Amino acid sequence: MGAIELLVIIVVLIGVIYALNSRSTAAKSSSESAPGFFRALFQGRATLTCWHCGAETDSQKPRCQHCDRELK
Ligand SMILES: [Zn+2]
Repeated sequence: MGAIELLVIIVVLIGVIYALNSRSTAAKSSSESAPGFFRALFQGRATLTCWHCGAETDSQKPRCQHCDRELK
């Protein structure tokens, strides 16, 4: 299999996932964002880097799990 075929398969898969996600979030709640879904999908769970202490923390929480300062 060539690199172009592989790329086409990946693009189609992302398209299918995005279509399913936009349908399910529309049914559930409009406040849920697609980027959060994709981060959770690719990383297992959504994390972000705290800009106070530089550690990885759960982006779902309002405060850093390490230094307990507000993330927003
Ligand atoms: Zn922190």
